[in-house]
Amino acid sequence: MASVYDRHVDLPTFMEGVKKRNPGQDEFVQAVQEVAQDVFDFIEDKEEYHEAQILRRIVEPDRIVSFRVCWEDDNHCVRVQRGWRVQNNNAIGPYKGGIRFHPSVNESVLKFLAFEQTFKNSLTGLPMGGGKGGANFNPKGKSDSEVMRFCQSFMTELYRHIGPDTDVPAGDIGVGAREIGYMFGQYKRITNRWEGVLTGKGTEYGGSKMRPEATGYGAVYFLRNMLQHQGQDVEGKTAVVSGSGNVATHAAEKIVQLGGKVLTLSDSGGFIHDPDGIDQEKIDWVKALKNERRGRISEYVDHFTGASFHEGKRPWDVPCDVALPCATQNELNEAEARELVGNGCMAVAEGANMPTTLEGVKVFHDARILYGPGKAANAGGVAVSGLEMSQNSERISWNHERLGQMLTELMEGIHGKCVEFGEKGGHVDYVRGANIAGFKKVADAMLAFGVM
Ligand code: NDP
Repeated sequence: MASVYDRHVDLPTFMEGVKKRNPGQDEFVQAVQEVAQDVFDFIEDKEEYHEAQILRRIVEPDRIVSFRVCWEDDNHCVRVQRGWRVQNNNAIGPYKGGIRFHPSVNESVLKFLAFEQTFKNSLTGLPMGGGKGGANFNPKGKSDSEVMRFCQSFMTELYRHIGPDTDVPAGDIGVGAREIGYMFGQYKRITNRWEGVLTGKGTEYGGSKMRPEATGYGAVYFLRNMLQHQGQDVEGKTAVVSGSGNVATHAAEKIVQLGGKVLTLSDSGGFIHDPDGIDQEKIDWVKALKNERRGRISEYVDHFTGASFHEGKRPWDVPCDVALPCATQNELNEAEARELVGNGCMAVAEGANMPTTLEGVKVFHDARILYGPGKAANAGGVAVSGLEMSQNSERISWNHERLGQMLTELMEGIHGKCVEFGEKGGHVDYVRGANIAGFKKVADAMLAFGVM
């Protein structure tokens, strides 16, 4: 009978062990499964990885900190939230990954995100380990003062676990420029140090140009790389985009700049479909709606005639050439993947993290369409965060043009690695390519350190 300690344990036995050690953590188990199936194949004949139990070690976070976050709302009621930081793996650099504030945040979600982040950061080629953090706090509907008090309280605990050479958090869902500003201010106040401890900062205080655009633009560059590898281009293509936050609006913007037509955007209330195309002016309106007025995407149809709002629905049944899921995890299931493929969708580039379920991914694989998983396609954000760290360390600031060029090259590099490890019989399996390329660098660094 196989045991999890067997050097050559098979995939089902290995996954059984992962499930047992992480009870009820479905998102984490799903993320591990997706990586393990490719990595198993890759390491099969590589004894050094088996001997060092690299796979068992890589699915165990270095450390998880959880803490109480108390704050007072505008009615002077004391509120209690839970915060976390998952420091997953720092083999190739300081922990790096965003902070998410959303009611759905729990340890499983953050562990899956930190795990994915480890391979994504490795793929960028920059020296960054993987981490993720957050709290079950909902900034929606809160006043600026409430958000400030929450962020200050959150940082009052977090600051002791992070640092520019230890762990460098950034934004994610529910954490944008406003929240980063409040958290950076509090870190600076407590430590009396101005240092590059967070990325996604405002450009007035050490933030990098291009960081807000980087994830969305990068996802579209990755899409363009995949299409060009097949002799196609973004120009003239119709695109379905989900979400209406940072990643979605910048992905939509880049599609438009490259001559494509964006048909949809969404939020957790539903999606809007604009058959005339969501052009730059409309995207700017959505950015203001979301960032300044903190409104809902349903308001779009009151301003732009010809568009329709589909309450409680996701946009995947709208026929399109390419799809960009840019909202959240598991927002595209098997049936929706079938709908996309059936309607002729030729490429999917994930702006969000793990937006497609495992069953949905299988549909894309079986149909042999171009499918760029989040850990490759949305790595542009963390890549520019890495460049923000470099600029902070050097006390300089690069211009937009230089950073834009670097982002384009970084995404080309990631695409190239996916092709190198994922091309077989004329078809590129981007999931396999990203998993293996991301894994190999981290695993080889772990081997160099011995058993720890
Ligand atoms: P934002 O908070 O700016 O936007 C999130 C968007 O997703 C909003 O439109 C939100 O709608 C929608 N959304 C959230 N939860 C759900 C849900 N359950 N169902 C439907 N829609 C939902 O976040 P970002 O744009 O920064 O992040 C989006 C995704 O991209 C996440 O998966 C994130 O991890 C990933 N990502 C982000 C990076 C970055 O640089 N920002 C880097 C790499 C990945 P609503 O307002 O209704 O909640």
